[in-house]
Amino acid sequence: MEQRRGTAAERGYDSQWRKGRDGFLAKHPLCAYHALFDPGRIAFAALVDHLYPHGGDRRLFWLRRYWVGACVNCHSKHKQAAERRGLAALDELAARLGLPPLSETHPELVRSARAALTERRG
Ligand SMILES: [Zn+2]
Repeated sequence: MEQRRGTAAERGYDSQWRKGRDGFLAKHPLCAYHALFDPGRIAFAALVDHLYPHGGDRRLFWLRRYWVGACVNCHSKHKQAAERRGLAALDELAARLGLPPLSETHPELVRSARAALTERRG
């Protein structure tokens, strides 16, 4: 699995990404999913999640609008459950975060997100 997906750097997680991620987390220090899945509690974001999996598509990767600060628990539990349910579940998640669906903002990137979801579930 890991081999097929390439190394982290090959998938775009390079120094430019780390810089972007750190800047994002400085501005958005809390887990945004927590407000949805564990209301009334807060947790610091430990990572920046790509709401729509990019599967290596650089345009989708750098689409900051869909970056979401997440704690490890929300990411591994709630977000991945949504990914297993497919694109419609991610659109729903986007709506709950106050974001429009990808098909509305960047219809040309939906194919990449779909492919990434299929690969993950494969
Ligand atoms: Zn969380």
